[in-house]
Parts: sequence; structure tokens; C-alpha cells
Amino acid sequence: MSEVAEKLNGIKTAIADAANVCGRDPASVQLVAVSKKQPPERIQEALDAGHRLFGENRVQEAYEHWADLKERYPDLRLHLIGPLQTNKAKDAVALFDCIETVDRVKLAKALAQEMESQGRKIPCLIQVNSGEEPQKHGVLPRDLPVLLEQCRALGLDIRGLMCIPPIDEPAALHFAFLSRLAKSFDLPELSIGMSNDYERAIPLGATYVRVGTAVFGPRPVSVTG
Ligand SMILES: *Cc1c(COP(=O)(O)O)cnc(C)c1O
Repeated sequence: MSEVAEKLNGIKTAIADAANVCGRDPASVQLVAVSKKQPPERIQEALDAGHRLFGENRVQEAYEHWADLKERYPDLRLHLIGPLQTNKAKDAVALFDCIETVDRVKLAKALAQEMESQGRKIPCLIQVNSGEEPQKHGVLPRDLPVLLEQCRALGLDIRGLMCIPPIDEPAALHFAFLSRLAKSFDLPELSIGMSNDYERAIPLGATYVRVGTAVFGPRPVSVTG
């Protein structure tokens, strides 16, 4: 068994255990394997192991990784988990199966327009800047209600919320906060938890965990920067 296959097995077992402990159906938590910056061999190992749900944070790099593989693996699903510029909305809608990072009305408009013109409606999550960090993407919690309403008026299929907690604060606080927010708006999906804290995200309601290094190993440092 490949190294990636072993790690995937271990993480899937840990997810199932964490779900069982808190009385959740293990199938209600999906593992988004974050393949950004990973070499093609490791991605292939994950595919060979039968894994089909992946996350990328850049549109261009995602094309390089996945454009061909999408044809070879028709059941592949890709989530965009990084910030999206409106001028990339077209490519993003064409490639991805879920956009997790809707965070402003201008982007919502561009996505709605692209989905309409491509005849391809894909689900979205709203990224919330739960730590209200100035340098971070995501809508501020107090601006969420208005953005959600605007997205719905545009016809976007908003399924849930996503956040990236500040590195210097306990992630669980942010997960719990996001979970309450999602419930209060009747949003079923919650994308919380990464390599270091995905098990803790499960009792707090994660339906997607986004795990990169724990699946693929450390991301190689690029020599070109
Ligand atoms: C890179 C990334 C991850 C995965 O991080 P790991 O620590 O490698 O698991 C998850 N979410 C987002 C938004 C990311 O950019």
C-alpha cells in the first residue's frame, strides 16, 4: 500500500471514530484531501487508493493538477478552498464542483453569471472571517446575513459556511461559533478542521474537513518561490 493510501486510511478511521464518539453518522463527514502544491505522484496515489474528493486553493494550479484527471475520473469532485478573483470566476465554475470561498457580493454576482452562461450550477459555501483578521479573506460575521440574502437573491446555492481560524487562537472556539451561525441560518454544511484539528471539528459539526499535509506529507517548498 502506498504511503498516501495508508494515511488516507488512518484519517478516515479517525474521522469515523470521532463521529461515532459523538453519535454522528461517519458518512456525514467528508474528507477533502487538499492537494495544493503536491507533486502529481502523491495525487495519483490518492486516486489509486480510491479517493475522489480534493481541495485546491488556486484556480490556475488546480487546472494544472486536475484538467486531464477530471476526464479519466468522472466521479472526481473538486472544491475551491482559496480566495477567488472575479476574473477567474469563469474558469472556477468550469472546473470546480463546489466553491467554498464566496465572501463578497461582487464575487457572488460573477459566479451566478458564469453558472448561468455555462449552464452549470454548483453549490457554494460562504467563507466567514470568524477571527475578524484584517489580512484574511471571508465575510465578517456581522455582514453575513446581508451577503447570504444577496447570494440567495442571485440564485446561488449556498449550502453552508467555511472558516480558517486564527493560528494563535483555539480553533474549537471558531468551529463552535461557525456551527452556531450555520444553524441559525439553516445551512447544513460546515467546512472546518485541517490536519491539526480535524478530529476536534467533528463533534462541533464539521461536514467537510480539509486535510492536506496529514494526507500527502509536507508540501514541497518551491525553488522558484
Ligand atoms: C492548505 C489549506 C488546508 C490544508 O492545510 P493542512 O494544514 O495541510 O491540512 C485547509 N484549508 C485551506 C483553506 C487551505 O488553504
